[in-house]
Amino acid sequence: MIKKFPLVDNYHRVINYLRLSVTDRCNLRCIYCMPNRVFGFMPHSEILTYEEMLHIVSLCIQQGIRKVRLTGGEPLVRKGIIGFIKRLYHIKGLEEVTLTTNGVLLKRFAADLRECGISRINVSLDSLRPERFSYITGRDYFGQVWEGLEEAEHVGFNPIKINVVAMKGVNDDEILDFVNLALKRSYHVRFIEFMPIGKQNEWNPEKFVSIDKIYRLIQSTWDLIPVKSNLYDGPAQRFRIEGKQGEIGLIGALSNCFCSRCNRLRLTSEGHLRGCLFSDQEVDLKTPLRQGNGDGHILRLIRSAVKNKPKDHGLVEYGSPKCARQMYSIGG
Ligand code: SAM
Ligand code: SF4
Repeated sequence: MIKKFPLVDNYHRVINYLRLSVTDRCNLRCIYCMPNRVFGFMPHSEILTYEEMLHIVSLCIQQGIRKVRLTGGEPLVRKGIIGFIKRLYHIKGLEEVTLTTNGVLLKRFAADLRECGISRINVSLDSLRPERFSYITGRDYFGQVWEGLEEAEHVGFNPIKINVVAMKGVNDDEILDFVNLALKRSYHVRFIEFMPIGKQNEWNPEKFVSIDKIYRLIQSTWDLIPVKSNLYDGPAQRFRIEGKQGEIGLIGALSNCFCSRCNRLRLTSEGHLRGCLFSDQEVDLKTPLRQGNGDGHILRLIRSAVKNKPKDHGLVEYGSPKCARQMYSIGG
């Protein structure tokens, strides 16, 4: 039975959004996500099967989740992803499914994604310069991502959101190039602050670029006009430019703490439910599920994850990483 009342945590936040990591595997090795680029991925047997994911998602929906974003690792590297999305859409009560991808396999999958109902996609792209792209991602796939974007446009995704992690001395000299891309192609380009996640994260204060700085830089060339957010809009502050298509978003995970508006849970690919990206407090749903516990038990665990959702990320100062897991294993 689908809950009529919203799922509310201890701090009166309505929780309606689940980020679902379908795999910890990836075909890129981004410096900010897989810092030393040599990884022990989880054994396949520890990763939730699609069947298990569908079951957990349907229980989350019973509790009040309405939107699911597929992420990873790279969601498009998991075999059978399109079939899984189709089945996801059969769950009653689910209003929207979206996807975050690095775009490497987008050319191959764009039409299928569109056909099976994915309403919006976010593509992560941190440089428009092929050599720099290779440095950041460890792979020479810029051309493939670009073709993926063109195919996504061709099959009708609109708008396409581009996520750019801004890093000083790495890609901060491309901020205005990305703004021009947004205006030229009607993309929604969102600049994200580099976050200290994971034990060996390459984060340090010298690489950090605040959204305030990005705002001032863009504003020195363009007049940014605020755009009102809607219900499922995440934490981005949105702007448009008079007479132009496209949009600019600024996501200040550190400098502009949006925890009081956080509406999300995260399910890792090994079946742990997390209340906060920055907190390693997790509720294991997979073990009890595999032990044959009934839905009532799993629903109680989901409610406990919501109840224990931290008030905020606690990164008072831009200090050391707060969680041991790397981003690719949480699902960013
Ligand atoms: N592989 C897909 C991709 O890259 O879009 C989905 C998973 S990735 C972990 C999700 C998002 O997290 C990406 O937009 C990526 O740029 C972002 N991300 C990863 N590590 C980050 C960090 N340390 N700081 C800020 N954003 C990060
Ligand atoms: Fe892979 Fe995405 Fe992490 Fe880059 S950010 S390594 S593409 S999971």
